[in-house]
Amino acid sequence: MTVALTMKNVDIAAVSSDGRACAKRASDADLAHTLVGVLRGIVGFAVDSVGDWVALLECHHLQHMRHRPPWRSVPWVEDAAERERRVGTTMNCPLCDRCEVPDGLTLLRTTAVWDTRTMPEALRRSHRVASGIWGRLHVEVGSLRFVASTDPITDVTVESDRAQGIPPGVDHHIEPRGSTRFAIEFWGRAS
Ligand SMILES: [Zn+2]
Repeated sequence: MTVALTMKNVDIAAVSSDGRACAKRASDADLAHTLVGVLRGIVGFAVDSVGDWVALLECHHLQHMRHRPPWRSVPWVEDAAERERRVGTTMNCPLCDRCEVPDGLTLLRTTAVWDTRTMPEALRRSHRVASGIWGRLHVEVGSLRFVASTDPITDVTVESDRAQGIPPGVDHHIEPRGSTRFAIEFWGRAS
């Protein structure tokens, strides 16, 4: 595995100046995100409200690609052909590693409220939410353990006072503790 990105500042461009190297990573993406953090494909670029370029990622997160020499050097982002060349390549998404649900998504559906007796047993084993779809885990009563293969590993106790984001395409499982009652929402872009 050649991917070893360690930058966690979302303002720092993690795409190398060599788009070919990034393209090579894409083929390893499924495996890589379980080992070294979540890699996401770039689906396009846009300019934000203050004129800075952002990369639009398949996970629905945005990442700033500010060119601010000499502090940050991302000269290629000013060039339309260079941006186009990087669409379809991947970059590390620290926001996915932190399980932060992106803004602007639409609630697609909500499961029944489950308890330890009625929940699908498959949730206790490693599984994934579909590409492009985010889960939001809501605990109504009690608590449960949520573990996901982000970098670093997400291993948290989810209580009833907060929702837990579940990134698309990332291996995870849950372990109810005691008499838990919970439901899962699924969020995505309305088609
Ligand atoms: Zn992301």
